[in-house]
Parts: sequence; structure tokens; C-alpha cells
Amino acid sequence: MIDLHTHSSFSDGSDRPSELVAEAARLGLSAIALTDHDTLEGIEEARRAGHRLGVEMIPGTEISCEWRRGGMHMTVLFLEPGAGPLQDRLATLRASRDGRNALMVDRLRDLGIDITLEEVLGQAGEGTVGRPHVAAVLVRKGVVPDPATAFEELLGYGRPAYLGRERLLPKEAIALARASGARPVLAHPHTLGLDTTAEVAELIGWLADAGLVGLECLYPGYPVEQREALMEMARSFGLLVSGGSDYHGTYKEGIALGSGRGDLAVPDEVLETLRPVQRGPASEP
Ligand code: AMP
Ligand code: ZN
Ligand code: FE
Ligand code: FE
Repeated sequence: MIDLHTHSSFSDGSDRPSELVAEAARLGLSAIALTDHDTLEGIEEARRAGHRLGVEMIPGTEISCEWRRGGMHMTVLFLEPGAGPLQDRLATLRASRDGRNALMVDRLRDLGIDITLEEVLGQAGEGTVGRPHVAAVLVRKGVVPDPATAFEELLGYGRPAYLGRERLLPKEAIALARASGARPVLAHPHTLGLDTTAEVAELIGWLADAGLVGLECLYPGYPVEQREALMEMARSFGLLVSGGSDYHGTYKEGIALGSGRGDLAVPDEVLETLRPVQRGPASEP
């Protein structure tokens, strides 16, 4: 079994990349993709651990797209660290978070909440900084009882400390991923904010025309019927099936690596179909 959607301490996961790989090895997973938000900084460490422990590491990231209805995320698999069209764009996306994080802290302080940017940066450590880190500081300081309340009352869309950030247009994300030799996958379709299967199909058809490669059909909490409907949709649009736990360690309670809420199992064949075609012996660095 494999897991193609995971987060480490280089974004809003609690485990270091090497710890994540060690856990994958303990569970007997043959491969995992590291898909930290907007960054590839954890890949090297995860790769080294993967070589040592015999777990294949798929380099990747997760990006948020501009979408008026809800959250549209794409995991981008087989994206190599270094320079490249999407890789370079990730740096500007990360930079746009800096100003936003500072403003978010200002908003919270204006609301009378005792929090500093230093505390948020300290909470985040290396890599991408975002709302889950702010939420964790608010919980630690007793401002809110749990992260969910932090989002409901302060940080979520439309709440007093909510601030948007730069996002890629869906077509732009797909084009940049493909130009970088990577495989763009539409993540957790339930967050799109679409009510009917027809609406989901229309959007996925449009993304497929734009060059989307995969659809995350296997995700924690998706009932069998939902998985099958998504896999059928993938087939009908010529998309490949992907799946993963969206593991965040202690930042997302109740989700285990590989098995999600105990209901997830992503077979190795999923990875084999998603794997880019080898370009010959020169592709091995
Ligand atoms: P950011 O990238 O800084 O905008 O933060 C987005 C991340 O916050 C998402 O990837 C989720 O992990 C987390 N998140 C968003 N909404 C909620 C929520 N209502 N409750 C808990 N976590 C959330
Ligand atoms: Zn996350
Ligand atoms: Fe996501
Ligand atoms: Fe994720």
C-alpha cells in the first residue's frame, strides 16, 4: 500500500519528513508522496530517509487554486526540487504568505488577542507558515479550546481575522505543473463547495480539458459509493486515480498515515499508473 498525500513539519504537519518516512516503513507502506503546501523543502530529508528505510519517496507539493465556490487544492506529484516553472512560482506564493501572516496577527491583536508574529513563526519552524500555525498558538495560549474553534471564530473564510492569499488559477497550476514534468491531481473533491454530481462532473471535465492528470478518489472518510463514483468520473474523463490520507500528524486529529480514519487503502498500482514515462537512462541523477 502507498499514501500519495502527506504533510510534514515543512508545512502544517507535526512530523519531520524523516519521521514520516520512518512511520511509513513501520506500517509497511512501499511509497509515500510528500505534498507540503507550496514547498519542496522537505523532499531531500524525506528522500534520504526513504533510501535508508526502503520506502520510495515521491516528491510533490499541494497548491491552492483560485475558485469562488470553496477550496480547490491540487497535489502535484513527481515535482522535483530545484529550478523550474512551478518550482519558481512556489517561491512567490510562499513570499505572499509573509505579508498576510503579519496582517493576520495585526487583526488578532486589534481584536484584543495577545499574539505575536514571532510566536507564529516559532510555532511553524522551517518551511511554509499558515493559518494552522496561528490556530495552534491560539490553542496553546488558551484563547480558543481547539483549532476548529480558532477557524470558526477567527481564521476561517469571512471571519474577523481571515485574510486571503495569492492563489494560482486552476489552468495556470495545471500548465505550470505539466511544464515542470509533474502530475497535477485534483485533491479531495468534497471541499470544492459543489452540491451535485453534475456540477462536480462539469468542473472536472473542464479541468481535464485543461490538462489535469489525476483525481484524488481515495480519501479518508469517503464512503465506498463516493470512491466508486469518483473513479467512474475519472475514467470517463481520461483521468488517473490517486489517493492519500492528507496526514498532518497532530495538526489534524484522527488521521493516520496510510489508513486515514482506518478506512483507506491505496494500492501500489495507483502509483504505477501515475508514474511519468521514463525518458531513458539520463533521467537518473
Ligand atoms: P492557509 O494555507 O494558511 O490558508 O491555511 C489553510 C489550511 O488550514 C488548510 O490546508 C487546512 O489544513 C487548514 N484549515 C482550513 N480550514 C480549516 C478549518 N475549518 N478547521 C481546521 N483547519 C482548517
Ligand atoms: Zn495542510
Ligand atoms: Fe488540501
Ligand atoms: Fe493536504
